Amino acid sequence: KPSIVWFRDDLRAADNPALRAAADDGSAVALYVLDEESPGIRPLGGASRWWLHHSLLALREDLAALGVPLLLRRGPATEVVRETATAVGTGSLYWNRRYGEPERMLDAGIKTWARESGMHAESFQASLLHEPWAVTTKQGGPFKVFTPFWRTVSGLDFREPLEAPEPGRGFSGRLPESEDLDTWGMLPRNPDWSAGLAESWQPGSAQAHELLDDFVENGLADYSVNRDRPDVPGSSRLSPFLRWGQLSPFEVWHAQQCRRQELGDGAAVFASELGWREFCWHQYFHHPDLATANLRPGFDHYPWAWPGGQGAGSHEPAVQEAANLLRAWQQGRTGFPIVDAGQRQLWHTGWMHNRVRMVSASLLVKNLGIHWQVGEQWFWDTLVDADPASNPANWQWVAGSGADASPFFRIFNPETQAKKFDPNGSYVGQWIPELSTADYPEPVVDLKASRREALDAYGNLPR
Ligand code: FAD
Repeated sequence: KPSIVWFRDDLRAADNPALRAAADDGSAVALYVLDEESPGIRPLGGASRWWLHHSLLALREDLAALGVPLLLRRGPATEVVRETATAVGTGSLYWNRRYGEPERMLDAGIKTWARESGMHAESFQASLLHEPWAVTTKQGGPFKVFTPFWRTVSGLDFREPLEAPEPGRGFSGRLPESEDLDTWGMLPRNPDWSAGLAESWQPGSAQAHELLDDFVENGLADYSVNRDRPDVPGSSRLSPFLRWGQLSPFEVWHAQQCRRQELGDGAAVFASELGWREFCWHQYFHHPDLATANLRPGFDHYPWAWPGGQGAGSHEPAVQEAANLLRAWQQGRTGFPIVDAGQRQLWHTGWMHNRVRMVSASLLVKNLGIHWQVGEQWFWDTLVDADPASNPANWQWVAGSGADASPFFRIFNPETQAKKFDPNGSYVGQWIPELSTADYPEPVVDLKASRREALDAYGNLPR
């Protein structure tokens, strides 16, 4: 009987334990389900849909080289997986674990159904180095602060990445027809805004490995110095590949570990960034409402300018003004060059440098007074690495409402940040050609006054 491997956020052939298990059975069939209907599943943003479309094309090719057919299906996953497993006459169902609450509930239901139907069903650890339930404080609860979390786990080592299965382990019998990816409508049309994304990325494991090898060879040594500089290619740019699983954290971990002795600091700092990714996922596991609720409930009383008390449709001048400020931020027209460069980089490439993400998010939340969830949703829609855990966790970090958040009074000043991290102005110059002309807008907000207002509002929050 054929075995089904159900692909989700693990769109790779190498270091994929579920695929290996299916191939070891001797006749693997791969399945991907686009589920936009099951309760609680967050609909993908526009840039993510573009990435996913191209990733599935790349995955289909990678699997075809192994002789494994990929079935594409759209619909509520519970029904689709059951129907497909029945139609294929499968004996075993394999997948790599997901950690969001709705996804876990759904997977648990399918596992129970499969076992009751006489199938073998098994899940594996593949997307995180540490299972969220396995890392606890001495008292047995989850870590709330990154430093002790990382101190506890950073000394551990991990299994070697698995090779992709040998070719010839795919199922070659009759299968139900795969859906046509083009009918899923994941590519933008009218207008097609994806040209910049296509210039910047080739979604798939091939580019992921090229970037990883190049970074470990040329970038890792100076990472701890260059990572904060948006004007130099100092970070790995692996985030979308880690988000979609075209690269596993085990592969990335071992690649840096190979040069750890020789490089010391650069490699250790890079490893701790992988630690932040884990920490975000652990927070999300323990707080499934991370994207929709302040982890510090005192922030429920913060007087946001937007969404205003009167709601988004209001014609109140204050609400209208906040809506205009939001639009200026989204379009890179705030008059703060480093923020505008970041927002334009995001719109054009689907990615923004981490330092600039922090500065831009801080301006939105603290100077423009706009709710962090509004910014989170914009990033969710526009980032190719839009991640269900890292995006809300980082927004809550910047806003000060998160578990281990940056202190609220640490408000990034976009002017000093630009001087420090883009000292020659080359990053800003690259994204804002009209910078020194009259076409470039004046700052939309007074930094000093808005900072004062934010601090006063924070001071009035209930503790
Ligand atoms: P590198 O510096 O090369 O780091 C290596 C890897 O470590 C990254 O690919 C990423 O997987 C992980 N990582 C690094 N920093 C962080 C961090 N602060 N939190 C979690 N993981 C981290 N990252 C996302 O992957 N998806 C998001 O949706 C996302 N949203 C963010 C929103 C805001 C407001 C901020 C301030 C940060 C956000 N980040 C997000 C974190 C970080 O900005 C990106 O991971 C990083 O810029 C990706 O570039 P890189 O791959 O070159 O990173």
